Amino acid sequence: MVIDASEVRFDAAVRLEGGRVASVEPAEGLTADERETVLAPGLVNAHAHLDLGTAPAGSPGESFLEWVASVMEARGERSPAEVAEGARAAAGRLLETGTTTVLDIDASGVAGMGLSDSPIRLVSLREVIDGSPAERNERTQAALELAREAVAAPASERRASGLSPHGVHTVSDELLGELALLARSAPVATHWAETPEETRWMLEGSGPFADWLGPSPRSSGAERLRRAGLLDGTLLVHGNCPAPGELALLAGRGVAVVHCPGSHLFFSRPGFALGDLRAAGIAVALGTDSAASNADLDMRREMRLARETLGVSGAEAWRMATEEGARFAPWAHVTGRLGVGDAGDLVRLRPAQGVVAARRDGDRILDLLTLSEPAVEGVWVAGERIEG
Ligand SMILES: [Zn+2]
Repeated sequence: MVIDASEVRFDAAVRLEGGRVASVEPAEGLTADERETVLAPGLVNAHAHLDLGTAPAGSPGESFLEWVASVMEARGERSPAEVAEGARAAAGRLLETGTTTVLDIDASGVAGMGLSDSPIRLVSLREVIDGSPAERNERTQAALELAREAVAAPASERRASGLSPHGVHTVSDELLGELALLARSAPVATHWAETPEETRWMLEGSGPFADWLGPSPRSSGAERLRRAGLLDGTLLVHGNCPAPGELALLAGRGVAVVHCPGSHLFFSRPGFALGDLRAAGIAVALGTDSAASNADLDMRREMRLARETLGVSGAEAWRMATEEGARFAPWAHVTGRLGVGDAGDLVRLRPAQGVVAARRDGDRILDLLTLSEPAVEGVWVAGERIEG
């Protein structure tokens, strides 16, 4: 069968041509084995840090800031070659678990070395940070130069670049404004409202973030992005703790929030307010975040966790793991669906037995597929089968 979030087509086959879907048609003469398997759009991981590799996450530690410090320290101890090798392994893990497109935060600039021959479709979002929402400082110019270099990088069928101001709390107004001018049509992602401490400091300047970041901007992250001209169409990562009234600023702006269920669980965050986001008309995509705060880099697992923790349907989880993230990948044909003309990015899944029994009920099949982490039997990117 051929599925995407909107449709389940039984006894159908996908024909690929020139790297795209040429047709999805009723298929005659399928073998019993072919009837049992599922062809689906490749999964889209809307938030990763491939340069943190695949090393298993340690403990979340005493506080979030301590965890951040330990991750920074561990990354600093690794050579560029080790970072590159880790990024290669992380992309490999995503591919083997059915992800064909990843929106990756590139903090070091060296992840690309490890990914140069990876067949994954990569949106590399160059992370820039000058450390404080206060005024321009000695780091601002260097950050801006990195951003300029990133947006000038040539794009191709599997490679595109964009920008990632690290967080709404760690970048100056001036840098945000310059990034808005640079970004134009390039994708932009930023960490936003991840912890209550961050939101409290943004609004009031109090709490543990005060020692780290200095004077507070005394406005919400969404407000800062709006003023800088960087809010429209931006991917906002986490959004666990929006400030009062902040969601209203996001409505109608073409943004999406990326929820990372595995990372959310790792830090034992309180419930994710999906209902509030939906009520405000804000889309939600799924991501893995990095291996430093997750047990695996596997979007099948993120869908299962989203089902279990958010109470979404299978079709909703599937859409969050495909279409919602794909809208931020700068290729019009990367849609997270399998329509004619869409990218030939596919995954072949072997459903568990219960799924086969549920044949002819599309919603039930999506429910079961998203809960059961089905085996991946094949992956195609841009129409090419990925070996290995
Ligand atoms: Zn992140």
